[in-house]
Amino acid sequence: MESALQFYKLILDSTSEHIVVIDEQGDIQFVNKQWSNFGLHNECTVGQSWKGVNYISECDKAAAMGDEFGAQAAMGIRGLINQTLPSFYFEYPCHSPLEKRWFMMHVTQFELDGDRFFIISHQNITERKQVEEAIANLAMADGLTNIANRRMFDQFLNLEWRRCKRLEKPICLAIIDLDFFKELNDEYGHQKGDECLKLVANLLNGLAHRPGDLAARYGGEEFALVLGDTQLENACTFAQSFLDQLAELDIENINAPTGTKLSASIGIAELMPIDYESEQDLIKRADKLLYKAKTNGRNRIELDRG
Ligand code: GH3
Ligand code: MG
Ligand code: MG
Repeated sequence: MESALQFYKLILDSTSEHIVVIDEQGDIQFVNKQWSNFGLHNECTVGQSWKGVNYISECDKAAAMGDEFGAQAAMGIRGLINQTLPSFYFEYPCHSPLEKRWFMMHVTQFELDGDRFFIISHQNITERKQVEEAIANLAMADGLTNIANRRMFDQFLNLEWRRCKRLEKPICLAIIDLDFFKELNDEYGHQKGDECLKLVANLLNGLAHRPGDLAARYGGEEFALVLGDTQLENACTFAQSFLDQLAELDIENINAPTGTKLSASIGIAELMPIDYESEQDLIKRADKLLYKAKTNGRNRIELDRG
């Protein structure tokens, strides 16, 4: 019997999961070795001296200090105890001052002699999360310039449009198209063209300061700047500053019919989302204004308020 107990204890202590068992009141009845070791180096869970500790109260205390994951954990465990949930699973960040870490928590239950017990297991899922994050970032970044890609632009504009609608604030969109970029590629080569696109992306990205701002590569040699909660005059200042900085870069484009340096044309539209159907209205307007800037001679800004 003694050796059988030893056998099961060794199994529990050798698993990579951190396991704690609580009763229906939330009082801790058992922890495995991984749990104790983890608690020693971690502020996210109850420490090593677990006897007499109520796990749910610890979650509640964390929640009261503003930890939303403590609140979620407590809610999940209570769901099992009051039989509204069959099991509970969730993933949460638990960063230490030195490293970023994520854990998953899984709660299941068993019954013994009429008493119910709840097994809470935690596992470190940091590596998986890091891979997921890297993939998500890759999917949202433009491969050449590293700024937001079209997909990110679409999502961001949609969110920002809805935010401004809620706040009844204006939103501006600038669409920027490089002038006679085909001539630049033809004269200096595609690689030189690529270098220019990176420089332009950097300039634009430097203008997107606030959480409601985004610089994105919209297409080949076309870029976009979303400026949430921004008036047309301010958007124009940003755009002018971009054109000035581009001129300062002094990039040769000897065959451009309008001059000898690389320039850009910009269409900026401002709308109050509350008065319009969707962000597509904003894109259409900015596009039209860009076309106007092209036909009016390029290297200029055309703007309009809805
Ligand atoms: P416009 O002033 O009317 O905009 O003239 P444009 O030559 O810039 O416009 P057009 O649409 O005729 O040509 C766009 C050029 O941009 C052609 C294309 O090869 C180039 N381009 C698009 N994407 C890339 C890229 O990723 N790298 C490089 N090097 N060139 C690109
Ligand atoms: Mg162009
Ligand atoms: Mg173009």
